[in-house]
Amino acid sequence: MIRAVEARFVTTAVGPEGYPAGGTPEIGFVGRSNVGKSSMVNALAARRKLVRVSNTPGRTRTLNFFDVELVRGDTRRAVRFADLPGYGFAKVQKAQRATWEKMVSTYLEGRAQLRGVVALVDAEVGPTPDDVRSLGYLQEAGRPTLVVATKLDRVAKARRRPRLQSIAQLLQVDVDWVLGFSATEKLGVTEVLEAVWELTGARDTSVDPTGTCTDDS
Ligand code: GDP
Repeated sequence: MIRAVEARFVTTAVGPEGYPAGGTPEIGFVGRSNVGKSSMVNALAARRKLVRVSNTPGRTRTLNFFDVELVRGDTRRAVRFADLPGYGFAKVQKAQRATWEKMVSTYLEGRAQLRGVVALVDAEVGPTPDDVRSLGYLQEAGRPTLVVATKLDRVAKARRRPRLQSIAQLLQVDVDWVLGFSATEKLGVTEVLEAVWELTGARDTSVDPTGTCTDDS
């Protein structure tokens, strides 16, 4: 059994100077606006209002960091969640899209503490062209990526497995890296937390354990 026992908001940032210090292993969350990212982070952290569930798609335009304490059996581990700004909102103009892309790519390419990314896709809608682009980008960036299909409660039970398979196919990822999730029905919470645990586990020691970034002062 794995669960979050503590969670707290750390800080908001728009660039590296604002990222929190320390070597806590980090997991990034990306997805288009309204995909259910806030609801998912809240469900994973077992907190109702850690991240505000917004009714205004596209409003979150900063990177938001949360510290979460996970317990698995008798082991505790501190992990950090980085909630990245949502993309693909129709009303967002080109200039804003460029700003989003710069903010996210700077983080994804440079953040030493980042161990993996959870890429959210709406299970009912399936991958949008923006989702496909985003996944391709993450693969190019070489970040281990877990695809999580949100709002699975909206897909009839018998269609869930085939839906996850088709999402994997459309995104050209292994089906083992696609998990179903529902914040409203609390489906997939354990599975996603297990994946987070896996991604944040021991890694090779060539990486600076203090997590110091390249932009040292
Ligand atoms: P974000 O913009 O990606 O952070 O998405 P939110 O978490 O704010 O959710 C967007 C909308 O989807 C809200 O109206 C939520 O109530 C709804 N939503 C989120 N998760 C689920 C879910 O698991 N099932 C269903 N049916 N709706 C959800």
